[in-house]
Amino acid sequence: MTSENRAKILVVDDERMNLNILSDLLIDDYKVILAKNGTQALERAWSDNPPDIILLDVMMPEMDGYTVLHKLKEDERTKNTPVIFITALDSIEDEATGLEKGAMDYIRKPFHPPIVKARIRNHLTLVRQRHLLEGLANYDALTEIPNRRNYELSVDREWRRCQRAFLPISLAMVDVDCFKQYNDNYGHTAGDVALKKVAGIISSAINRPCDLAARYGGEEFVILLPETDAYGARYLVEDIRKKVEQLEIKHEFSPINPFLTISIGGVTLIPGVTNSAEVLIESADAMMYQAKRGGKNAVIWEDMT
Ligand SMILES: [Mg+2]
Repeated sequence: MTSENRAKILVVDDERMNLNILSDLLIDDYKVILAKNGTQALERAWSDNPPDIILLDVMMPEMDGYTVLHKLKEDERTKNTPVIFITALDSIEDEATGLEKGAMDYIRKPFHPPIVKARIRNHLTLVRQRHLLEGLANYDALTEIPNRRNYELSVDREWRRCQRAFLPISLAMVDVDCFKQYNDNYGHTAGDVALKKVAGIISSAINRPCDLAARYGGEEFVILLPETDAYGARYLVEDIRKKVEQLEIKHEFSPINPFLTISIGGVTLIPGVTNSAEVLIESADAMMYQAKRGGKNAVIWEDMT
């Protein structure tokens, strides 16, 4: 394992000796960050380089472990970070208090190294599994590209980024033409295969990490292109439109083309302070509707910059 993908553990204890013992114990397997009081612990937990798990001493002057835990749980950034209390307190009541307040586990002083290591390993396994599930929740099961939820998370972030930097942002809405007729005549399994192929063309057309192609629902897809002007965005989606037509997916029940086609509506604007990211979807959708009315298999773009 490289040092980059090692799990990060924040160890919080007011006694230097305890920090040293735990640090020595964990340093070979993990990236260890130390804090000697509650204030420092919160600073490190809320930094740009946050820990995957926190070992937190209960008894500390000024801010005790319970208070630190409470603040961590209240904050969006750390509410899911597992916290293991390390404590000399060994009464059942103290253990219950800690667990009720949201600690995942307890480790008692004096430390028994194999147990400390095993517990941390188990909790990190849970962290990894949770991240995996969160990842799956953001992808569309059929097409395996990002889903609408993923788009909604990205568009807010990219909207704010372009707003701060006065940069254009482009959004395309893609809709498969005459898809109902396709499904009705070829069946839903064939419909699913066609959607996967269209999704493949769309997602392979985008290259930059900030771009996002997502299945918006049914036979609709969105393509988010931050820092892209109308000319560039239009060029990219026109290429997608052509490539889908060139797949030559037979569609004998389409009144407009012997093959399956798509219509695309798009918009480019510079985010203002008075509008929100929803204007992107509304405008792109309106343009897509115009493309449909104009005969389908077309791109209609609105440049609002
Ligand atoms: Mg202490």
